[in-house]
Amino acid sequence: MPTTPHPTRGVTPCTRCGAQIRWATVVGTGQRMPLNALPSPMGGYAAYTAGSGGLYVRELTRDRAEPEYLEWKAVSHFSSCTGGSGQQTAAPPPRSRSARRRPSVQPPLWGQPGVPRQR
Ligand SMILES: [Zn+2]
Repeated sequence: MPTTPHPTRGVTPCTRCGAQIRWATVVGTGQRMPLNALPSPMGGYAAYTAGSGGLYVRELTRDRAEPEYLEWKAVSHFSSCTGGSGQQTAAPPPRSRSARRRPSVQPPLWGQPGVPRQR
């Protein structure tokens, strides 16, 4: 019996088109891949949530063409992303959320060594 993924957990908006996606790890290669958040019978992939909570995905193959066990049919967001104005490349994984605040401290111009300007 196919399962359905959690409706909201692990769902994040695509940085390109804003669609609801989930990031999954491709079984075998370990690559990260965006999936449409909702299952689709048209999906060419089978995804499942591991016990640890991570989402894993494999491509459906001829000999394993249907989702098994806890898998659900997923669509690669690569093929359905509408963002990026025609770019074919996939959206990058979400960046680390907090851009580190970089110190804007500059060395003072006065008091530099070797430039004594005293009278
Ligand atoms: Zn997208």
